[in-house]
Amino acid sequence: GHGFGANPSPRIVMMGLRRGGKSSICQVMFHNMQPLDTLYIESTTAPTTSVFSSFIDFAVMELPGQINFTDAMIDAERIFSSCGALIYVIDSQDEYINALANLHSIIIHAVNANPTINIEVFIHKVDGLSEDFRLDAQRDITQRVTDELLDDGLVNVSISFHLTSIFDHSIYEAFSRVVQKLIPQLATLENLLNVLCQHSGIDKAFLFDIGSKIFVATDSSPLDIPTYEICTDFIDITVDMNNLYAVDRRPKSGSRTDPNANSNNNNNNNHNNGIAVNQNTTDRPEPIPPGRPIGSTSRLSNGVILYLQQMVKGLALVCLMRKESMPKIALVEYNIEFFRDALEQLWLIG
Ligand code: GDP
Repeated sequence: GHGFGANPSPRIVMMGLRRGGKSSICQVMFHNMQPLDTLYIESTTAPTTSVFSSFIDFAVMELPGQINFTDAMIDAERIFSSCGALIYVIDSQDEYINALANLHSIIIHAVNANPTINIEVFIHKVDGLSEDFRLDAQRDITQRVTDELLDDGLVNVSISFHLTSIFDHSIYEAFSRVVQKLIPQLATLENLLNVLCQHSGIDKAFLFDIGSKIFVATDSSPLDIPTYEICTDFIDITVDMNNLYAVDRRPKSGSRTDPNANSNNNNNNNHNNGIAVNQNTTDRPEPIPPGRPIGSTSRLSNGVILYLQQMVKGLALVCLMRKESMPKIALVEYNIEFFRDALEQLWLIG
């Protein structure tokens, strides 16, 4: 798959009661669906499993609303044993007592099958709650879940709570945190990004999974949400521009620019990921052609320069620079080449 070297890809399983928002999250994250369009997603009959492939391998299991889910769990236990994280989605706009009972029994099964699994609770649809209610819900859910685990004597469970909504960037941020915990090379990646920033006049640098807009790593300068949002929007724009040219399929390989090279890689935002329909004959995204990564540079009205370069494995480096760095862009690009080399090394040694 798309993992790091010899390591298996981080695998994530998502569960939760029906109508909690699982399909919506997947459509928005992996198929670029507009959040409002999720209103019309057909409700599936449980249990179902769908698999998405991005930088991470990702399986979604939907469980029936009833607490009796033994059949589904037999399958799940097999999955838990080889996966890094379990995301459990709770609808915060609904009565969540049933969901908590369901979550509790799932945690027992999951931890039993895999004691080191990360349990990630998404307190979802918080767009409908006021700021106060959000914090109340988080406090209440955290309290109830941890109390119950303590009652069972389960003290070493790795469990985190995230407030999420598909109507803002919170879902991407939560996913990014979940994925980052599963990347053993994270500290190295962060160091590489720090070094790159220091030597190139870059203010902020992210390594993004282009397909899902999950950020895999960032340098250690403070992260603010508007900056992050600008970067994800910039990825969308760059991919859209790239796809514009991809329509023009000229067979010539010797032409000066041949932008259609990326028409079938895994950063296409048009239902081209994982299980989705692919216009190509292969149903897997093709490896990114060497030497023809997507990239773009843009200057915002406040003088900030946005810079995007595709690296390896469907990952893109997205940087923010001040306009003073522009005359030194050759140096920046030189350093970015080193960064790319380092990434390739990292993947080789796994
Ligand atoms: P699933 O059964 O868990 O897959 O849930 P769905 O994805 O079918 O979602 C059920 C409903 O919740 C749909 O009408 C979605 O539009 C809605 N929904 C999903 N995510 C959010 C969210 O973040 N906020 C709000 N307000 N509604 C959401």
